[in-house]
Order: sequence, then structure tokens, then C-alpha cells
Amino acid sequence: MSLSTTRVDVLILGAGGAGMMCAIHAGRRGRSVLLVDHAKKIGGKILISGGGRCNFTNMGASPQQYVSNNPHFCKSALARYPSRTFIEMVQSHGIAFHEKKLGQLFCDTSAQEIVEMLKTECNQAGARFWLETRIERIERLGSDSEALEAGELPRFRVETSQGLIECHSLVVATGGLSIPKIGATGFGYQVAEQFGLKLVPRAAALDGFTFSDSGTQSLTALAGLSVDCTMTCNGVTFRENLLFTHSGMSGPAPLQASLHWRPGDSITVDLLPGQNAFEWFLEKKRSGNRSQVKNLLSELLPARLADRLCELHFPSQQPLPQVSEKGLEAFCHLIHHWKLQPTGTVGYSKAEVTRGGVDTDELSSKTLESKKVPGLHFIGEVVDVTGWLGGYNFQWAWASGWSAGQVV
Ligand SMILES: Cc1cc2nc3c(=O)[nH]c(=O)nc-3n(C[C@H](O)[C@H](O)[C@H](O)COP(=O)(O)OP(=O)(O)OC[C@H]3O[C@@H](n4cnc5c(N)ncnc54)[C@H](O)[C@@H]3O)c2cc1C
Repeated sequence: MSLSTTRVDVLILGAGGAGMMCAIHAGRRGRSVLLVDHAKKIGGKILISGGGRCNFTNMGASPQQYVSNNPHFCKSALARYPSRTFIEMVQSHGIAFHEKKLGQLFCDTSAQEIVEMLKTECNQAGARFWLETRIERIERLGSDSEALEAGELPRFRVETSQGLIECHSLVVATGGLSIPKIGATGFGYQVAEQFGLKLVPRAAALDGFTFSDSGTQSLTALAGLSVDCTMTCNGVTFRENLLFTHSGMSGPAPLQASLHWRPGDSITVDLLPGQNAFEWFLEKKRSGNRSQVKNLLSELLPARLADRLCELHFPSQQPLPQVSEKGLEAFCHLIHHWKLQPTGTVGYSKAEVTRGGVDTDELSSKTLESKKVPGLHFIGEVVDVTGWLGGYNFQWAWASGWSAGQVV
């Protein structure tokens, strides 16, 4: 049986946040749009994001919160489609939301509302979806000619399990490698390679840290504990919570730091940010306090953490008056500058994003179109632009999708 050929102006591979945003805006411009995805459902990552409530943007989103080989690349899209424009769309759909902290906006009820909103907007713009569709082959048709440029002839033919599709613009929005069990693949990178585009090496990010066996042993006793801290990695510092796990460190501070970490780097943790532990102990000493350091420290930190830190770095059981100021100062320095050497990050099974991706040198920052292959666009997480934790990655998906949607 031969399958018929479907012709559209714009074919978008991947019906996640970036793909749907592009579909809405291309459709609104009167383009015929088809979104193809191998998953059963659209927006799978949106549904699991933000603990089911989707941290859909950040009110303070700016280029400073993104990591890329070219930190300037994201500026154009973020400036032309700022977070307030997305917030207006959310409001126009009557979706209730709140700021959790640090400009992070979450749905009051469910991430499903964001998916429904995007689906409604896609439908209104006339975009169609083909789900559970395997993409088998992509072929570039002909060489550049006036007819191709004018959109009179298709530029790409895509073979899928549902039939052939020919399109003028091909948009790759297949995301990164994180959470393979909900359908993440490296497909977008393969397409980039097929067309000779460079890739920036990829790594799991926003996933926290693991430690070697010996490092883990010193931390396992702390599993389940959460503390406020500042964590610094490669000169970038975050004040957030740190959660100790059986295999290492999770929670917002390690997730943020993991985005900036490279193999071999160490991280530095201040367990009492904004306080001066040495001054505090000296005050106790001067006032004649006779407790052990371990017991006093548990007034500042959870007892399990205070115990473990003392076991590892201050085993003295002497009462405070007998403790030397020099020894105390060194221990307090450690509390404020606890240096750890992770062996790795947790990996794609838990990572919120993939760092790296299609090299931004290959793309126009205004249209996300390939400089080498006219009509081929890459948007969203597949591109080497990765945001911090806190709604920044969706903002990039919306902004890059919108930018391509203006021109495809
Ligand atoms: C657990 C978790 C929580 C997160 N929470 C947040 C948050 O609260 N705020 C935030 O800003 N960011 C969050 N993120 C990151 C955010 O989800 C992504 O950065 C964003 O979804 C990227 O959008 P995208 O459209 O580029 O890719 P995706 O949303 O990943 O969409 C890609 C689509 O392509 C499809 N696809 C992949 N391969 C193929 C293939 N071979 N054939 C056909 N289709 C394919 C997939 O099925 C998917 O539908 C979270 C991520 C995770 C994993």
C-alpha cells in the first residue's frame, strides 16, 4: 500500500513547548502547519514540569540566566518575546498562577492547563497534530531556486510511519535527552549532523551531583536532610536549598550548580550563608559557655549535619573554653567554604535539561534558521541555550518558538 503525500508550508518535528509555540504563530500568519510527534500525548514535559504545576516562566528572565557557548545568542529572541507576553497569554486563558519565589511563576492548579492552552491556540491557528508518528527519513529537495524561495516548491520531504510529508519550512523542536522514558531522544542532533551542522557536546544538567564511594559514605548519613546554603561552581553562586540524598546532593542549589559544573570541578558550599560562625562561637566562648562545639553547632544547623561535620572535621570533645581559637577558626572557615569534589552529575534519568546541542554559530539568532540550509530551523532545548532552574527553559522554548514562528 502506498501512502499519500501531505503538503504543508511548515512541518514541525516535536509537539513540545517550543514546537507548539512556533505552530501557533506560523498558523496565525496563515501558514499551513503540521506538528509530528512520536509520543501519544503532546507537551509531555510540560505535564511533568514544576512538580505537575509547570513553572512556565520567570518574571526576571534575561540573557544572564542562560548558558551557551555564545551568551549573546539568546538575546534577540528573549527581547522580542519577553516573559510578560507569555504571561498575557496565560491570563487571557483565565489560568490562575502565583509566584513561588525569585520570579518563578507556577499554575495554581495543574500544568495540564498550559498544555490545554497551547492546544487550543494551535487549533485556533489551524495547526494539525500527527501523534504516535515515527520520523524515518528527511530529504532536502532540489537546490535553491527562486521557486523554492518563493515557497512554490517544497524544500524538504519527510518520510514518516503515517506517510510522506513535503514542506517548505522544516522546524526541529525535538528537545534534549533528559527523561528518555517520556520520549526524549537525540533525534534533533542527528538531523543537525545529517545537514552538516556543528554540535556543542551535550551533558545532563539541572540534575544534582553524585560522589565517589568514599565521598558518598561521608554524606549518606545525611540523606533526607535539607539546608539553606549558598553553592558556588565555576564562579556562579546560588542561594537555595541543598538536599542530601543517598548518592549525593539534590535540591535547587545542586541542580543550579550542576549546570555550571564540568568534570573535575569542585563546588563550594556555605552552610551558614549570611552568618559569621567564628564570631558566633567566640561570643559563646567569651561568655563562658562550656558546651562541646558539636552541641553548639546544632543550634545553627540540623543536629545530624552538625554531628557529621564534627566527626569529619572537628572530632574534639573538649568543652568550648579548651578549644583553641585557631582550630575553631579553621573549622568555621570550612563551614562557610566546604569544598567538595563531585564525581559526576546524576544523569539524564533525572536531569531537567540537556546542556549543549546545536551550535548557535550555525543559526540566525533572529529566526533560528540554519545559515547553511535555508528553511531548516532549530528551536527550544535542542539548541545550545540552557537556562537556570526557575522557568527559564520554558521561556527559551516560547521565545525561540515564537521567533521561528514569525518567519517560517
Ligand atoms: C522533570 C522536568 C521538570 C521540568 N520543569 C521545568 C519547569 O518547571 N520550568 C522550566 O522552565 N523548565 C522545566 N523543565 C525543562 C523543560 O521541560 C524543557 O526545557 C522544555 O520542555 C523544552 O521544550 P522543547 O519544546 O524544546 O522540548 P520538549 O518539551 O522536550 O519537546 C520535544 C518533543 O519532541 C518529541 N520527540 C523527541 N524525539 C522525537 C522523535 N525522534 N520523533 C518524534 N518526536 C520526538 C517529544 O516526544 C516531545 O514531545 C523541566 C524538565 C524536566 C525533565
